[in-house]
Amino acid sequence: MKIVLLGAPGAGKGTHAVRLSDDYGIPHISTGDIFRANLKNGTELGKKAKSYMDQGLLVPDELTVDLVLDRLKQDDCKNGWILDGFPRNLFQAEALTKALADEGGLDYAIHLTIEDEQIVKRMAGRRVCSVCGASYNTNGLMPRVDGVCDRCGGPVVQRADDAPETVLKRLAVYHEQTEPIVEYYREIGKETPVDGSLPMDETYALLVALLGEKDGCHDQD
Ligand code: AMP
Repeated sequence: MKIVLLGAPGAGKGTHAVRLSDDYGIPHISTGDIFRANLKNGTELGKKAKSYMDQGLLVPDELTVDLVLDRLKQDDCKNGWILDGFPRNLFQAEALTKALADEGGLDYAIHLTIEDEQIVKRMAGRRVCSVCGASYNTNGLMPRVDGVCDRCGGPVVQRADDAPETVLKRLAVYHEQTEPIVEYYREIGKETPVDGSLPMDETYALLVALLGEKDGCHDQD
């Protein structure tokens, strides 16, 4: 099952992708997580990506597209994957379509829909594990032990780019550059809207209803 999760920053892509990955046994590939890991490890890619990320801007396509397409060729991707945060503009969407042309293309481009106002509220409360990327929120699910990830024991922190002024910039970039790809996927018959404004468990139930029960999914693997 090859899935792209679309939606504004804060729509819940990361949270749902982590859960879908666990439940359906396919890798979660987050470009944001890849860049953050590079940043933390002080790699050349991390150094180049940093200034864009700090400003809430997109990292240039030449640093992003091959990175993802190479990742999709790895062994663990042969039964499918969940892409979170890629594609982020039309160029990236077209590059992905081209790369998948020989293998039947995507199964779903799931669009998590939500209003900006709710996003701003959600992102003010968002906390993430700096090791595995699991998401928490002060308005909802928080780790059982304060500051410690339930999933991997890593530190749970606020992302630097979740500061209010950077959130507004990221939303503007989303509307300008990423939203047009919703239309792109609609035109090629792949866009599937799912209400991302509901409590996380309710949105997740809609995703499972769409993708089919988990056991059925494992049988196909
Ligand atoms: P995210 O964790 O998906 O919100 O991404 C965090 C930041 O990483 C974004 O604000 C961008 O600066 C960068 N980024 C993530 N994915 C992409 C992408 N597909 N293209 C360009 N920049 C990206």
